[in-house]
Amino acid sequence: MTERPEDAIVALYDQALVEHGDTPRGALWPNEADRLTRFDVMLDVLAGHPGGPLVLCDLGCGTGELLARIRQRGLSSITYVGVDRSRAALEYARTKFPGVNFLHLDVNAPDADLSLIACDFLVANGLFTVRQMLNEQQMAAFIDSTIRNVWPAVRAGIAFNLISGVVDWRREDLYHASMDDMARLLHSLAGRRVRMRADYGLHEFTCYAYKPSLPAKADTPGQSLVRVLRPSLPTADRLLPYLKRIDETRIYSNFGPLVLEFETRLCNMLGLPPGAVVSASTGTAGLVGAILATSGRATEARNLALMPAYTFVATAVAAQECGYEPYLLDVDAHTWMLDPEQLVGHPALDRVGVVIPVAAFGKKIEASAWLRFRDKTGIAVVIDAAAGFESVSQHPSEHLGPIPVVLSFHATKSLATGEGGCVVSTDLELIAQVCQCLNYGFRASRDSQSASINGRMSEYHAAVGLAELDQWDAKREAFRNVVDCYLRHAAECGLQGRLVTAPDICSSYVLLRCDDLDQAERVQASLEANRIEYRLWYGLGLHRQTQFSQLPRDALPVTAQLAPFLLGLPMATDLDDASIGTIVHAVAAACRE
Ligand SMILES: *Cc1c(COP(=O)(O)O)cnc(C)c1O
Repeated sequence: MTERPEDAIVALYDQALVEHGDTPRGALWPNEADRLTRFDVMLDVLAGHPGGPLVLCDLGCGTGELLARIRQRGLSSITYVGVDRSRAALEYARTKFPGVNFLHLDVNAPDADLSLIACDFLVANGLFTVRQMLNEQQMAAFIDSTIRNVWPAVRAGIAFNLISGVVDWRREDLYHASMDDMARLLHSLAGRRVRMRADYGLHEFTCYAYKPSLPAKADTPGQSLVRVLRPSLPTADRLLPYLKRIDETRIYSNFGPLVLEFETRLCNMLGLPPGAVVSASTGTAGLVGAILATSGRATEARNLALMPAYTFVATAVAAQECGYEPYLLDVDAHTWMLDPEQLVGHPALDRVGVVIPVAAFGKKIEASAWLRFRDKTGIAVVIDAAAGFESVSQHPSEHLGPIPVVLSFHATKSLATGEGGCVVSTDLELIAQVCQCLNYGFRASRDSQSASINGRMSEYHAAVGLAELDQWDAKREAFRNVVDCYLRHAAECGLQGRLVTAPDICSSYVLLRCDDLDQAERVQASLEANRIEYRLWYGLGLHRQTQFSQLPRDALPVTAQLAPFLLGLPMATDLDDASIGTIVHAVAAACRE
């Protein structure tokens, strides 16, 4: 049994149910007419849904009367799931609606299985109105925790209502909420996809928040969806010779012959001696191995990992894996990356174990400046150049030195093995150390000698990597043609200079730089209308991810300005001229408005 302030609310509802039975008053509603109004306002969350079957979760469902309203209105495409903490209310509900899924679940319990409420839409009707004996702070915490917990389980949108704070009366047993507080909570989750309404005649308001719209159904006549990224890795027939070698050797992992060949070929491409590259099971594992090898696990005195807020979540995940608390820094407006010169005087430095600069979208990063930083401060540096294979191989001397550089070969990166990564450094002893950290701490013997994980690449992934290297020149050429095509269309539509593409960034990204938020939203709407996917590859910054929202950080004005403006447009080696034309025209039309 959990014991939290809001337990008192459950008890109050149970008591009302005992006194008044399954009636509006038994659910603490004054009358049936108002209750129906609220139900309809709640169901308004579905407005704009393209139609078709959907799952609706009713959090705090009580005796399930919302389902009665749904059936009354003939909304037959809704699969309803009711959730409540009151067993008494659920018993009424199950009796009235046999066969319907009613769950006894406390979404704020630490061990709650939130996959049970996976749904398209979630509504919470009257869940946050009565505060009983909870104080304002406890009530705010209850709302915040509930919404943040359920948000990841929701695919399309949520709605919930609150008693207005803008009224000329107050009831001590109700929670009069602030619209600003709710806006802050919802904007942090949903960006600008937030709506509030208070126009339905009751002393309350309803909040709506939406996920980025899902790709429309594929059956829209004449127009198919353009995916934001459609990777192309070696086909089965290209893999076959390598797979046959695995059949012969019966070596499947543990730095077998294919992995070693893959590493050696990478060394050759980067102009480095054998032993300067160690492969990893993922880019994230490569980061963990490089951190463990340079700075080890976090210590009490040095428990911070500095990193830009503008990066993919993997950077922070890897640091946390090694025990560090990520500390988020703002990026330079021009480079989109950390500036090592600026960092030298940072007040947190004496608590920092490792700095992880990120080569944004695989841009060129100046390793020599980071080497100076490391030598001046004595703090370990690991460069996350996950998407940087092309920059690194084109400018090896600028990237490669003693500081370890981590690459990812995830399917979405230009050179890909499906899952995979590597760490590169001219310091061969360091690479041997990284290898040890990725291999249970084993070096020459089966004695575990350091902090470690199992982060090895398998022979099967190396097979993909070798076949990928075989076709790498052709793949790069195909990417280049697509980029040229983008640039040609952009020039024709007056969008010169607005696209960021290879060779400045990794070939698998094409970015559109918007001027302001309004324009970014118009472009997004235009792309959606044309069934073209887009993506904010780094989201709105790490601090806007639920998991990382509480991390220590500096002020992040540049990240806040940059993140929503850099839209990832579709990319694929076989994206055709017509599709690119459609994409660029959709963008240009929105920019002209
Ligand atoms: C892709 C990426 C990673 C993670 O690589 P995985 O191979 O998916 O683990 C890390 N950091 C950045 C910046 C990335 O883009």
